[in-house]
Amino acid sequence: MSRDTEGQSSLKRACRKCKYILSEDDAKCPVCGSSDLSEEWSGIIIIVDPSAQLAEAIGAKRAGRYAIKVR
Ligand SMILES: [Zn+2]
Repeated sequence: MSRDTEGQSSLKRACRKCKYILSEDDAKCPVCGSSDLSEEWSGIIIIVDPSAQLAEAIGAKRAGRYAIKVR
């Protein structure tokens, strides 16, 4: 588990439903399949282990980057 507020410039959109942060070429969320995406988000939580308590707390089902706030 780690928090990182840098490197955000290379990341474009976050899923409004599960807050997963998509890579540039993802057209929809690879986690929940939603295409409800937002470019207005802030903060990054990096989930390395989806079975960790932090992952459960934010509802992360797979490893990856998640936004803390999505508008
Ligand atoms: Zn999603």
